[in-house]
Amino acid sequence: MEKWVYTFGDGKAEGSAGDRDLLGGKGANLAEMCALGLPVPPGFTITSQVCSWYYENGRSYPASLEKDVEAALGHIAAVTGRKLGDNARPLLVSVRSGSRASMPGMMDTVLNLGLNDETVEAIARESGDARFAYDSYRRFIQMYSDVVMGLDHSVFEEILEDTKANLGHDVDTALTADDWKGVIALYKEKIEEELEAPFPQDPQQQLWGAIGAVFSSWMNARAVTYRRLHNMPESWGTAVNVQAMVFGNMGDRSATGVAFTRNPSTGEKKLYGEFLVNAQGEDVVAGIRTPQNITEEARLAAGSDRPSLEKIMPEAFAEFCAVSDRLEKHYRDMQDLEFTIENGKLWMLQTRSGKRTAKAALKIAVEMAEEGLISREEAVLRIEPGSLDQLLHPTIDPRAQREVIGTGLPASPGAATGEIVFSSEDAEQLKSEGRKAILVRIETSPEDIHGMHAAEAILTTRGGMTSHAAVVARGMGKPCVSGAGSLRVDYRNETLLAMGVTLKKGDIITIDGGIGQVLKGAVPMLQPELSGDFGKIMEWADGARRMKVRANAETPNDARTARSFGAEGIGLCRTEHMFFDGERIIAMREMILAENEKGRRTALDKLLPMQRADFVELFEIMNGLPVTIRLLDPPLHEFLPKTDEEIAEVAAVMNVGVEKLRERTDALHEFNPMLGHRGCRLAISYPEIAEMQARAIFEAAVEAAKSTGAPVVPEIMVPLVGLRAELDFVKARIDAVAAEVMREAGLTIDYLVGTMIELPRAAVRANSIAEAAEFFSFGTNDLTQTTFGISRDDASSFLTTYQAKGIIAQDPFVSIDVDGVGELVRLAAEKGRATRPDIKLGICGEHGGDPASIHFCEEVGLDYVSCSPFRVPIARLAAAQASAKPAG
Ligand code: ADP
Ligand code: MG
Ligand code: MG
Repeated sequence: MEKWVYTFGDGKAEGSAGDRDLLGGKGANLAEMCALGLPVPPGFTITSQVCSWYYENGRSYPASLEKDVEAALGHIAAVTGRKLGDNARPLLVSVRSGSRASMPGMMDTVLNLGLNDETVEAIARESGDARFAYDSYRRFIQMYSDVVMGLDHSVFEEILEDTKANLGHDVDTALTADDWKGVIALYKEKIEEELEAPFPQDPQQQLWGAIGAVFSSWMNARAVTYRRLHNMPESWGTAVNVQAMVFGNMGDRSATGVAFTRNPSTGEKKLYGEFLVNAQGEDVVAGIRTPQNITEEARLAAGSDRPSLEKIMPEAFAEFCAVSDRLEKHYRDMQDLEFTIENGKLWMLQTRSGKRTAKAALKIAVEMAEEGLISREEAVLRIEPGSLDQLLHPTIDPRAQREVIGTGLPASPGAATGEIVFSSEDAEQLKSEGRKAILVRIETSPEDIHGMHAAEAILTTRGGMTSHAAVVARGMGKPCVSGAGSLRVDYRNETLLAMGVTLKKGDIITIDGGIGQVLKGAVPMLQPELSGDFGKIMEWADGARRMKVRANAETPNDARTARSFGAEGIGLCRTEHMFFDGERIIAMREMILAENEKGRRTALDKLLPMQRADFVELFEIMNGLPVTIRLLDPPLHEFLPKTDEEIAEVAAVMNVGVEKLRERTDALHEFNPMLGHRGCRLAISYPEIAEMQARAIFEAAVEAAKSTGAPVVPEIMVPLVGLRAELDFVKARIDAVAAEVMREAGLTIDYLVGTMIELPRAAVRANSIAEAAEFFSFGTNDLTQTTFGISRDDASSFLTTYQAKGIIAQDPFVSIDVDGVGELVRLAAEKGRATRPDIKLGICGEHGGDPASIHFCEEVGLDYVSCSPFRVPIARLAAAQASAKPAG
């Protein structure tokens, strides 16, 4: 026979902390605390399997459940001497929901269940405190009607407020027993009126009503949404906890509170919490009365004149401190506790691992490792890599005032203040004057790269989390709010309309990319701190990690940031970014629009010294670390002049007519540029481009080796290869240039030629491609696009729908699609190694900075991951965690 109900109380429990799946987190930990001998009111947990049964059987219960619940109530009676509905010593219980992972959105707890017109009198007699008894009864009617019978709580609030106003009181605690009786009568009338049925007087009926409400709440809209957002399966189900009440509202020697064993925002090892005298649990959270500090130290720090628990109930406080220590040691983690003090006696009502900020998580992990409570490896495993993002950018001081003028998507974290500009040119201008700019655009395009670089932050009114602005900003580590649809940008008049206020160019705003807010004016900031606890965890992580971590970087600034964050090389240097600056773009356009090879070579000759200078600087910064440089990849039309002014400019340089130029531009138009004339296809049509780039790289390598004494081994990467012959063709050109430069310089240069694996065909033919390629770098952005046949730039509209309808669990552009794209990566890695056992394997798509994808990379045995500089610490930690525990 299935066991549906588990009891706890009186130093014993049928379940334990290990039964979280069956009993839910709350039930499992109540059982554990009981078994530890801590003061926990007795009770029982109806398992989550009953929830599954309930839904599989048309919302009914297993046959034996009623009997089991009866027996469990008998267990409570044996411990407390109380029975549900008894007219002398009535039992009151709480009914609480609880699934495996704590889950807002589910049913609220019902307290004081078991009260009716008769038991309330018994409670009044027994406690000698009629005020307390009727206060509890009205609380019960309020909660039960709201939570179980679905009556909006505002109807009760109105009655209560009117009553208080008539009596001239402003706090609930001032009401007498008779006042509460009056309120209760009004409540009951209201219920009859609204629901056409009286408030249930039978405690059994009340109990089963509450149990049913908990199970039903598993499928309410809020809970379903929450589960979907957090990838929690429906099959888990919720458990129901029924527990004898203890009363924090029995007068001045009673209280209720919540506490953390360490400070959850700073991590400081100090008990931190709040409580209320003469109150029940929900009062603390509801915020109707302001809670008081638990410790004297916290009270003094807060400058509060309301006494601490330590001061007014020293004995209960001392016991609570001891319990809190014990629980932290037992669970070996910071705990979040709920407690109630009834007439001076302490009762524990909940414990769980406490939520904490990233900063607190680091401090707690480091200190617990140093205290010997956990190992260093565990400390490394305890930090959620993604949470480090909070610490890698300046953030708004939590104490600062925020005047929000618009909201959008939190596209790239961090905060920045600056003057509004509406064009990339203005952003650059401001930067050159040493001023700070916020680039405000309807949306951005590749031509805005220089402006985005120059700006402190980016704000767009259109576009999603994977829009150009969002992706580029994340790559640059710049704060970005995208898709702030309530704002209106007027380029012509250079104004930004925000909530009825018109802001002009030059006005100051602040962007909070972490939460997607646009704020008026300057706001105080906190600077990132990479030393201390952060540094220690990173050091421990580096000791545990197998994969190397490189950065995707092309500018000197990015390269320096990458190194300061611990990057061990550059995994992707995108050379196209080097063509957008100032006069380069004109030379570039000249090259693209040239009619023949000779024209192209003339333009390329102008670009060569600029490219070489860029690479020299990059190599010098990287000081001997590996640098992977990708040859020109994007479709040429991205560089083309668009405005009449731009066309005229290029026409003048090239000495051709505007009309002729426009014809050339039109001829380069492509229907589907993403699948068009790009990647190695450019190098095959125009080998002189690849040759110029190769020359710039090799000459720079020679120069940087001289200046630093640490020779760089350049890794030249050919993009978008699908055919072995494509790579052979381009590689032959690169090798020829290498031989030339070596002859000219009179020395040998070590270098590697490899390819991106970003087309399914390349993955499938990896064994053959590896004969020519000395390394593979998985370009998982394009590989995801080409495997799914989904354009990344157009995906956000329907992928969100896919997620909402449960077709896909996660955006495959954010976290690698292990089953499909991942299978291709795995296949290519195996085939590549079969041909060339020492082939270097890495990943350079956005996935290289995503912790779940990094786990996958470890599993496949890649040599390194490469990600944007600001994600390097996250990747270092995730790689260490992946080394320690394989995914799954
Ligand atoms: P949540 O999951 O929202 O924290 P809980 O089930 O923990 O909900 O309960 C809400 C409040 O009710 C808490 O403050 C808790 O301490 C209090 N509470 C729950 N059960 C009891 C009980 N048996 N006696 C007294 N207070 C209780
Ligand atoms: Mg709780
Ligand atoms: Mg690509």
